[in-house]
Amino acid sequence: MRIDRMLRERGPVFSFEFFPPHTDEGEENLFRAITELRELEPSFVSVTQRRGSTRVRTLELVVRIRRELGLEPMAHFTCADATVDELHGVLGRLRDEGIDNVLALRGDPPSADGAFVAAAGGLSHSSELLALITANYDFCVGGACYPESHSESVSPDDDLRQTKLKVDSGACFLITQLFFDNRAYFDFVARARRAGIDVPIIPGIMPITRATQVDRFESKMFGAHIPEPLCEAVQRRKEEPEAVMQLGVAWSTLQCAELLAGGAPGVHFYTLNRSPATRAILSALQAAQPWERAG
Ligand code: FAD
Repeated sequence: MRIDRMLRERGPVFSFEFFPPHTDEGEENLFRAITELRELEPSFVSVTQRRGSTRVRTLELVVRIRRELGLEPMAHFTCADATVDELHGVLGRLRDEGIDNVLALRGDPPSADGAFVAAAGGLSHSSELLALITANYDFCVGGACYPESHSESVSPDDDLRQTKLKVDSGACFLITQLFFDNRAYFDFVARARRAGIDVPIIPGIMPITRATQVDRFESKMFGAHIPEPLCEAVQRRKEEPEAVMQLGVAWSTLQCAELLAGGAPGVHFYTLNRSPATRAILSALQAAQPWERAG
């Protein structure tokens, strides 16, 4: 089923993101995590695509998830390291496998400090990829957005202009980069609406589960500001891994409840291929149904 249809016809849309494992053991762990999360009846599950050869790997996994687990998949699809002909090759296979949903992305630069360089005969930006997909295929295609601006954007206004370009090029929904302060999401949505971006904007949430994640989330790659009180609370517990995990889960649960009560169309969970944190958060949300309080 297409995600734009789910967003129109269902209550909040909950989704889980996984990444392609490197090993057979990793793949078994992944399928165990997805199986454990399946009881929460996600609207869809997505599989990321890393640089290099994983374009086909992502395709194989989304096909397996749908066939073996009966879940609706979404394939992440970047334009990094590929010519337009190569992009068409995999898009054609996704279409032939009956995949409905694709998240179109540029892809990260090869290193955190490096610049993204388009492949010869390839594309430079996700908006070009979105235009290519919508002109040639019938996928429901989404794009990424950044409540705290993308690290390469020259200003928040420029970032918003590029986001609008994604929607004008065919994105029928957007999923945000992870964030920890809901004001960033609500402000971004308000600015997006004023700029004429009218598609659903699904917040992407990743709980802190280890103290060492704080620096990583605040790095250029994620650009997520961690509120001072949360940062301090994590630091105070850094020698107690279980307490950090409980704090991270509790924070994200409060965050999601406020987002859903404030009108967010669902939540996309970055799971890191693990089930316990996402399971705890979504179980509480499904019991409390904070979206019923949305005004
Ligand atoms: P773009 O839209 O191309 O934007 C990149 C930068 O260029 C931005 O600063 C933008 O403002 C600017 N820009 C855009 N268009 C133009 C233009 N026409 N002219 C000038 N500047 C422009 N990465 C992966 O490698 N694999 C994944 O599976 C993956 N999944 C993700 C899922 C989500 C929900 C999110 C939020 C990110 C994901 N990423 C993934 C990371 C993403 O690839 C990076 O954030 C990347 O640096 C930017 O991707 P984009 O699609 O937003 O790029």
